[in-house]
Amino acid sequence: MSARTGKAGGQASAGDLLELVRSGRATTRGALQQATGLSRATVGQRLDRLFRAGWLREGAGGPVDSPLGGRPSITLEFDDAHAVVLAADLDTRHGRAAVLSLAGEILAEHSGSLVVEDGPDAVLGELGRWFAELLPKAGRGVQEVCGIGLAVPGPVDSDTGRIVQPPIMPGWDGFDIRGRLGRAFAEHARSGAEVPVLVDNDANLMAYGEQRTGHPDCSAFVLVKVSTGIGAGVVVDGHIYRGIDGGAGDIGHIRVPAGAEALCRCGSYGCLAAVASGGAVARRLAEAGVPAASGSDVRDLLTAGHPEAAALAREAGRHVGDVLATVVTLLNPGVLMIAGDLAGTPFLTGLRELLYQRALPRSTAHLDVVTSRLGERAGLVGAGALVVEHLYAPDRVEERLLALGV
Ligand SMILES: [Zn+2]
Repeated sequence: MSARTGKAGGQASAGDLLELVRSGRATTRGALQQATGLSRATVGQRLDRLFRAGWLREGAGGPVDSPLGGRPSITLEFDDAHAVVLAADLDTRHGRAAVLSLAGEILAEHSGSLVVEDGPDAVLGELGRWFAELLPKAGRGVQEVCGIGLAVPGPVDSDTGRIVQPPIMPGWDGFDIRGRLGRAFAEHARSGAEVPVLVDNDANLMAYGEQRTGHPDCSAFVLVKVSTGIGAGVVVDGHIYRGIDGGAGDIGHIRVPAGAEALCRCGSYGCLAAVASGGAVARRLAEAGVPAASGSDVRDLLTAGHPEAAALAREAGRHVGDVLATVVTLLNPGVLMIAGDLAGTPFLTGLRELLYQRALPRSTAHLDVVTSRLGERAGLVGAGALVVEHLYAPDRVEERLLALGV
């Protein structure tokens, strides 16, 4: 029997019922009976297990009319307080970590210097310490942690959680991130429990976080992060699109004509990131005598309205817009979101100039080009959501309920 398809291969499982409640498609016993074809007694038994696990609760709204007639039904809802998720977002020189509720609310947060070039052992060890220190600040205990989500600035094989040939993360290729981060957390939190760790690319998780919280009805969503590097995340029908090797969206290393002379951090010449990233703009500013060393320096200059920074950001936007014309033609997204250090008016102006010039009118007719809504928290929110969707997916629920003894 297929637990995921439920009715197709057999009877709907407890996991299927939970999924119906969580998605809001069926939130009363009667609606669940109708959606699954299960008897009232069977629905009751399966819900009982979910209640005993602490995963379901009765809704605050009070009884609603039953679709089957008769007495009004009590509404059911996912109990998003019964556990917490730990999430972290690594940039090349900076990290951010948080404790989140299962509904994606940030309960405690910390950010600080964390240099990926120091290597995975040191960086993940430090993250484990941050997590252990954040839990008491959120008023939550180690035993309440159901999983850890991590966003990294490189391509990830999501089956193994290992980074694959990262252009800007020396020493991380193939490293067992899940194992090291899990051990570091257990050590610092003095916990013997094994906590599942999920790892994904930062642009993927930012796209996931933004799409779910701000554009839930958009079935083709693209986010482009322009900071030290350039990367894109694609969410199709509510799922992250990763490609077959986790390489989808790595647009920063596409060769562009304007980049022929520019050496990229990946070691090649001519990459988009070498001419249009925050790092590239910082280099151009420094050459012109304006003190800037990183994408975040460029962000500060743009915020202050620095004219040269604005002109270079607009030019960078044109280069990215040229590449995005192909992306938009291929995917025909409803939302194209620009995030990261350069995401502001000058960059978007340049991007729009080239995008609308080069893409077919049909692929841009209903396209919204917008800036990030969650800002620096997008990766955390996406990483938290990834963990929750993974752990409460119908095909994983049965195993977890049995482990809880219900
Ligand atoms: Zn490159």
